[in-house]
Amino acid sequence: MATIVYGHPDCLTHVTPPGHPECLDRLHAVERGLAHLPVIRSEAPTAPEDEVLRCHPPAYLAKVRRALPTEGWVALDGDTILSPGSLNAALRAVGGITAAVDAVMAGQAQNAFVAARPPGHHAETATAMGFCLFGTVAIAARRLLDHHGLTRVAIVDFDVHHGNGTQDLLWDEARILFASTHQMPLYPGTGSAAETGAHRNILNHPLRPGTGSAAMRAAYDAHILPALDAYAPEFLLISAGFDAHEADPLASLAWQTEDYAWLTHRLCDVADAHAHGRIVSTLEGGYDLPALQASVAAHVGVLEERGR
Ligand SMILES: [Zn+2]
Repeated sequence: MATIVYGHPDCLTHVTPPGHPECLDRLHAVERGLAHLPVIRSEAPTAPEDEVLRCHPPAYLAKVRRALPTEGWVALDGDTILSPGSLNAALRAVGGITAAVDAVMAGQAQNAFVAARPPGHHAETATAMGFCLFGTVAIAARRLLDHHGLTRVAIVDFDVHHGNGTQDLLWDEARILFASTHQMPLYPGTGSAAETGAHRNILNHPLRPGTGSAAMRAAYDAHILPALDAYAPEFLLISAGFDAHEADPLASLAWQTEDYAWLTHRLCDVADAHAHGRIVSTLEGGYDLPALQASVAAHVGVLEERGR
């Protein structure tokens, strides 16, 4: 078995204004992090619109398409930007994650990582938000249920920001467990432990600013990992944001690069115990470029090691 990494140059055509943290240089940093790993590289296909419609109404997709500029930028909100290539990039991100779950389900790989942008976990049903257009990880989860016939899919979101979009898209989905750690208070303001979903299918574990390695590992050991083990998912999806790193400019947790390796090992343990090792991870945030490079190398390095 192997690890496949999905990406596409179209993801570099989603261009944000100078100084915007969600910049295309992030993908260059990710590529540097992946450069020396013995993973299989694969092109992310363009998702057909039907994949997006698993989680978003047609009117929203049409609104994004209509809003695309022919040059320069338009802002959908204070921080979510469209450039002429943004829709193609977002459809590559969705296509990458759907191809990844298909490949892992088919046994072509043990696990996979999707190195695409824009990210997805803030996009709500009909609202672009927080640099995100489409709920990529939620779309993948729904594909696992409705196309592949699974009945228990878990999503772990370790981005420093709460995945409000994933939560919104899957609030009423009893066949999915969405588990998130995130800094609180912080954008987008959601993610309290009291938000549990319509079927107690959401587990939010907010972390205080300054939470470092020991407390982060303790939180996973005490709350997230036991919940995952109890749920016994048939497939594990990861919203892999690396902005909880101490060096990140957008937040103030104090995770270290090695914490991403530790956490990836623990998530592989869950997948090995319940899901035949099946994991697909997708890039969310991470805005300090050297930290992003090192953290992606640590995360995907463990996926590759465990996927052999
Ligand atoms: Zn984030």
